Amino acid sequence: MQSPRWQQLWREAVRDGGELLGLLGLDPAALGLSAGAARQFPLRVPRGFVARMRHGDPADPLLRQVLPVDAEMRPAPGFSLDAVGDGAASAGDGMIRKYNGRALLVATGSCAINCRYCFRRHFPYAEQTASAAGWAAALERIAADGGIEEVILSGGDPLSLSDAKLAAFTDALRAVPHVRRLRLHTRLPVVLPERVDDGFTDWIASLPWPVAVVLHANHANEFDAGVDAALARLRAAGASLLNQAVLLRGVNDSVDALAALSERGFAAGVLPYYLHQLDRVQGAAHFEVDDARARQLHAGLAARLSGYLVPRLVREVAGDPGKRPL
Ligand code: SF4
Repeated sequence: MQSPRWQQLWREAVRDGGELLGLLGLDPAALGLSAGAARQFPLRVPRGFVARMRHGDPADPLLRQVLPVDAEMRPAPGFSLDAVGDGAASAGDGMIRKYNGRALLVATGSCAINCRYCFRRHFPYAEQTASAAGWAAALERIAADGGIEEVILSGGDPLSLSDAKLAAFTDALRAVPHVRRLRLHTRLPVVLPERVDDGFTDWIASLPWPVAVVLHANHANEFDAGVDAALARLRAAGASLLNQAVLLRGVNDSVDALAALSERGFAAGVLPYYLHQLDRVQGAAHFEVDDARARQLHAGLAARLSGYLVPRLVREVAGDPGKRPL
């Protein structure tokens, strides 16, 4: 059987820094392209996402999110391998039980894109991703815990799984009466909108629970007509769309950029949810915006936009029962 088009596009992603910069007409030496950083966390970016980058602009906000650079290899005190305490919160079987009433399943370690600031760039996926056997164990655990009302599929990116795998999981989950909501954490509708095909939207529409799709876009330029169409299909299938962004130096650290992100997302039917302070993961220090500046930007955003377009400014702190507002 022929694989879906999105899987072909996934395989055709750009994985070489020289090729990426060549496509954009940029000089690798001038940008601090780093082979060491790429070995630590490989470059991967779908070609459709590259097409949204500005040709000839070394400061392009989309390029900065994916290009492995020398700055990642500089030691940075306070930046660690497991910045958000996933190791301590892991319940085994790919399940992370950090918050009341919710179970988060690390459904897969795969992503269509590798974001340089990702808090899971050092996550031990091989040990903590829910394998097929692990999923069965996680389902048993969810079934046995009447306090779990919401199941969150995360990763990696859960939409990297085939429709059949997703359906197998939710078919089993239907038998658990206390589950009332399903949430998907995904960047795929933004970076590879072809993923939202008929098979996928049929699956969403068939689910017996309200579904929240929490997207991840950091800059207004990540949206284009293909993304708009994918998001419209998700909404038509019944999903509620939210966005979480990460505050990133050199990408979206201005009131103009953050306002444009909220407005552009809303035009595509997405409400802003969280603006995260960077998780202090090794290799990402050059993206950090200090707390005082973050608060200033957030206040500037609140002064400019309607309240529903202002995301909550939060930080994840290991061991906390919820995101900590700044
Ligand atoms: S899509 Fe999400 S999980 Fe995957 S690399 Fe980017 S930030 Fe990390």
